[in-house]
Amino acid sequence: HAKDGGGNRFEFYSELSNAVTLERLALEMDLRYALDRGELMVYYQPKVDLRSGDMVGSEALLRWRHPVHGLVAPDQFIPIAEETGLIVAIGEWVLRTVCRQIRRWCDQGRRFSVAINLSARQFRERELAAVISAALADEGLAPELLELEITESIVMHNAEQAAVILSGLKEQGLSVSIDDFGTGYSSLNYLKRFPVDALKIDRSFVRDIATDNDDARIVAAVVALAHSLGLRVIAEGVETAEQGEFLLSEGCDQAQGYFYGRPVPAEELFKT
Ligand code: C2E
Ligand code: MG
Ligand code: MG
Ligand code: MG
Repeated sequence: HAKDGGGNRFEFYSELSNAVTLERLALEMDLRYALDRGELMVYYQPKVDLRSGDMVGSEALLRWRHPVHGLVAPDQFIPIAEETGLIVAIGEWVLRTVCRQIRRWCDQGRRFSVAINLSARQFRERELAAVISAALADEGLAPELLELEITESIVMHNAEQAAVILSGLKEQGLSVSIDDFGTGYSSLNYLKRFPVDALKIDRSFVRDIATDNDDARIVAAVVALAHSLGLRVIAEGVETAEQGEFLLSEGCDQAQGYFYGRPVPAEELFKT
């Protein structure tokens, strides 16, 4: 090793980035088998109606139980799945798993919707509408029971193509929400043009609403904007009673967050 500090630093960084790359590569290889090995799981987080306090739906969130690393967060492997194209198979597995679960709940007399997250790659899959309608048909489910969540950047990436895809999904009776609203490439124009049903206010705006005036005003404005366009509003990341009360007072429709319930396996969703 050279005594020169700069040289050492360079070596340190390049070793570090090699290690990161190797780790990523290993994760990518493991992900290829995760589906077949049954390591993927779907957790469900309650969506609550702010006025009544009732659970009116849930969001399906993917979990990976890695044999060595334990529970790997979606933010760590969804991007890999997206880049490698594995997301298409994984996404279809999530869709099928969720539809089976909705069927089970329906059979128990619990009729409520589940939202699934769509990645950019899935959203652009030519077969998306057909894959979704086949999954619903196989379980004999009404399309209202399945909601789709997509981010602003997915929509804005190719607005014209997105408008066509969204119209097709809408015609099938599916409802679509804009996820993480306010964090992406926000264009108020697309809200008017695109047939979406709901906005999900990103949790970064919700976190400080009780203490930060700017955040409080942004949230209030988003609620007003959404309602004036005939859209439902869902607040993400609600962790305290104060946040929930503020959202209710601003007329926000629904909320999701640790305050109401963390994402849990299907069997635990109704245990309270
Ligand atoms: P998202 O769709 O915005 O999901 C909400 C995230 O916020 C979830 O993280 C959830 O666990 C977390 N969350 C919920 N309530 C609270 C709260 O009160 N406080 C805090 N700090 N966090 C809260 P998660 O499960 O780690 O998922 C992260 C992201 O990964 C999701 O963000 C979504 O973009 C993506 N994702 C998850 N499952 C899937 C999937 O099946 N397919 C695709 N394409 N993406 C998925
Ligand atoms: Mg989501
Ligand atoms: Mg979100
Ligand atoms: Mg997110």
